[in-house]
Amino acid sequence: NITDSTVLHNGVKMPWLGLGVYKAKEGEEVENAVKTALKVGYRSIDTAAFYDNEVGVGKAIRESGVQREEIFITTKVWNNRQGYESTLQAFEESRKKLGVEYVDLYLIHWPVKGKYKETWKALEKLYKDGYVKAIGVSNFQIHHLEDVMADAEIIPMVNQVEFHPRLTQKELLHFCKTHNIQLEAWRPLMQGQIFNEPTIVELANKYSKKPSQIVLRWDLQHGVVTIPKSVHEDRIKENADIFDFELDTEDMLAIDELNENQRLGADPDNFD
Ligand code: NAD
Repeated sequence: NITDSTVLHNGVKMPWLGLGVYKAKEGEEVENAVKTALKVGYRSIDTAAFYDNEVGVGKAIRESGVQREEIFITTKVWNNRQGYESTLQAFEESRKKLGVEYVDLYLIHWPVKGKYKETWKALEKLYKDGYVKAIGVSNFQIHHLEDVMADAEIIPMVNQVEFHPRLTQKELLHFCKTHNIQLEAWRPLMQGQIFNEPTIVELANKYSKKPSQIVLRWDLQHGVVTIPKSVHEDRIKENADIFDFELDTEDMLAIDELNENQRLGADPDNFD
């Protein structure tokens, strides 16, 4: 069901489904989205300092009536704050904005060249000090992961990357599984751009589900955590109704075959 979780390599539980809030505006918009999601059963929220809505996320959580310990909060350090001391400071700012004692998962948002290894040391410090329950990275390719892992004390628990039927990340997914790094899908719905794809439409008819639900279910069956974004109650509910059916192996493969290595977002090797 909707609260089902994966267990990260340090034993922390992380829900398979979360609400993404990129571009949900600080104030009523993000507050309503988070409250709606918590009301319909979501227990994980994905924000970032860059999204500029951490205050609203925190406020909505406090007003939701759901216990803090039942909610998994992810936030991320933005590129211009990377480095050891500045990451510790950026974390403290995020923590204050969220108004929480601890964050469940803190991520390096992008692998900023020449900086991300120092940033990782700061995340290890925050983890050891108990301010974060788990630490991870985002937009890391295999070579970035190998570079960090070469002298890390702690292997990243999560790697959050662009992942959808047009970008299936086969090698990266395999690498992460081998090293017990949980892969997490951002832009899982391609912001709606995959909903009219004929294979997806056909499978939606076959399973009497929505295209969105077919795509998100495909994430789960690949062992990938997924964080679709919406600020509308009907869609927030729709995106969570993915725990009552199973795609056949051949249908999983049919979706895999839609891969075109197509990125909607930036290329992690050329973004700065
Ligand atoms: P998404 O694929 O989740 O698409 C969201 C958009 O799709 C919505 O704004 C809406 O227009 C549409 N949509 C959603 N549900 C729908 C439904 N049921 N029916 C019809 N339309 C629907 O894209 P996203 O928001 O870019 O990605 C999800 C989350 O991933 C973000 O909110 C953010 O939390 C995270 N993210 C992280 C990074 C990163 O660099 N780490 C980058 C981008 C996004």
